[in-house]
Amino acid sequence: MINVAVEISEKKCIGCGLCVQTCPFDALTLVDGVVQVDPDKCTNCGACVEICPTEALALDEPTKEMTNKEKEQVKEMTGTAREMSEELTKYKGVWVFIEQMEGKVSPVSWELLGEGRKLAAKLNTYLAGILLGDGVEHIAQEAFNNGADKVYLVQSPVLKHFRTQPYMDTIINLTKRHMPEIILMGATTMGRDLSGAVATGLGTGLTADCTELDIEPESRYMLQSRPAFGGNIMATIVCRHRRPQMATVRPRIMDMPEYKKDQQGEIIREETNLQEEDIAVKVIDYIKEKGKAVYLDKAEIIVAGGRGIGSKQNFKMLQELADTVGGTIGASRAAVEAGWLEAEFQVGQTGTTVRPKVYFAIGISGAIQHLVGMQTSDVIVAVNNDPDAPIFKVATFGIQGDLFKVLPAMTEQFRKQLRQ
Ligand SMILES: Cc1cc2nc3c(=O)[nH]c(=O)nc-3n(C[C@H](O)[C@H](O)[C@H](O)COP(=O)(O)OP(=O)(O)OC[C@H]3O[C@@H](n4cnc5c(N)ncnc54)[C@H](O)[C@@H]3O)c2cc1C
Repeated sequence: MINVAVEISEKKCIGCGLCVQTCPFDALTLVDGVVQVDPDKCTNCGACVEICPTEALALDEPTKEMTNKEKEQVKEMTGTAREMSEELTKYKGVWVFIEQMEGKVSPVSWELLGEGRKLAAKLNTYLAGILLGDGVEHIAQEAFNNGADKVYLVQSPVLKHFRTQPYMDTIINLTKRHMPEIILMGATTMGRDLSGAVATGLGTGLTADCTELDIEPESRYMLQSRPAFGGNIMATIVCRHRRPQMATVRPRIMDMPEYKKDQQGEIIREETNLQEEDIAVKVIDYIKEKGKAVYLDKAEIIVAGGRGIGSKQNFKMLQELADTVGGTIGASRAAVEAGWLEAEFQVGQTGTTVRPKVYFAIGISGAIQHLVGMQTSDVIVAVNNDPDAPIFKVATFGIQGDLFKVLPAMTEQFRKQLRQ
C-alpha cells in the first residue's frame, strides 16, 4: 500500500482507468498501467473506491471535509462511470464484414468468419456477416456455409460499387441499431479504408493488421495482437471503454473455416435511406486491373530469394526452380531494395503475407519482419550458409550450404523427380 490520501493496492490494480474517469478532482492518473494518486488533489471522496471493479482502492482517514457541491459532483461522476460500464455490457455478437467486389468475395472474409466463430464461442454469443451491395443476396448462403449464424444484408444501387462514405454510413447505422461487441474486417485495401472510417464515426478503437485474436473471458476484452516497433515485439492491444471492439487482419493469416454444405442461417434485411445525390464520390467506370502477374497471397509454391542471391542476374536460378516446381518468385525486402525485383514480389510485414503449401527461402536470413509474412506456410525449405540464421528456426527442412551449389542441384533433382 502507498501511504497517500486514497490507498492503492498495486497488485490488485488492473489499469482499467475507470477510477481516473470517475475522479471529480483529476487526482488520479495511470502510470505504466497502474493508478497513481496526487495527494494534493485527492479529497478522499471515495468515488474511485466505489467504482473500482477489483477493490484496488481504499479510503484513508479523510484529509479534508468535502463541500456539498463536491459531494454532488462525486455522485454525478460515479453515476456516469457506472452507466458507461453498464452500457458496454449491452453490446453482443461478433460481426465480420463480408468484402465483395462484383459479387466475388475476398477469401479473407471467410478466414475471419472462422476466427470470429472462435471468438463468438468464447463470448457465448452469435456470429454474423455484414453484407452490403446490390444483387448480392446469394453470398449470404456462402456466409452460412462458412459458419455465420446470421447475415445483415443491405442492398441498394448506391452500394453496388464500394465507396467509403455509403459503406461507412450503412455500417455505422447497423452498428448503432444492433450493437455488436466486435467487428472484424480484412486488412485489404477496402477493409483498411472502411475500418478506419467506421471506427472514427463510432468513436471506438481499431487495431490494424492483427496476427492473433483472443478473448479475455472475465472482462470480455478482445486481445488484439500485432507486431509493433518495426516488428521487434508483439503488442497485445485492448479497447477498454468503447464498443464495438474493432480489428483488421491480413489475408492468409487465419485458417479457412470448415465448409459446411447444409448450414443454414438467418438473413436480416435492412434498408438504407442513402440516395445517389447524397454521395460526393461517383463511380464513372469500373476497370479491372490487367497484367498484374504477381498474386503472391494466392500462390501455392513460392521460391523467394534474399540478399544472399547477390544480384538481379542470379534470380534466374530461382526462376528455374520456380518453373520446375510450378511456383512463383518472391523476395525479401533487402532483395527488393537492391532493385533485383519489383516491390510486388516482397514478402513480409511491409510486403505481402503469404501462406503457400511450400515456401523456399533462399539466401534469406529470417528477420522477424520477413518471418511474420511467411511463417504460417505449410512447409518451409530454407537454404543458407549460416547455421545460426533465424530462418532455420521456422524451417521444416533446413539446408546449410552455399546456395550456388545447393540451388542447381535441388532444381535438377526436382526436374528428375517430376519428370517421372
Ligand atoms: C519496419 C520494417 C519493415 C520491414 N519489412 C520487411 C518485409 O516486409 N520483408 C522483409 O523481407 N524484410 C523487411 N524488413 C527488413 C528486414 O529487417 C531485413 O533487413 C530483411 O528481411 C533482410 O533480408 P535478407 O534476409 O534477404 O538479407 P540478410 O539479412 O542480409 O540475409 C542474407 C542471408 O543470405 C545468406 N547468404 C549469403 N550468401 C549466401 C550463400 N552463398 N549461400 C547461402 N546463403 C547465403 C546469409 O547468411 C544471410 O543469412 C523490414 C524492416 C523494417 C525495419
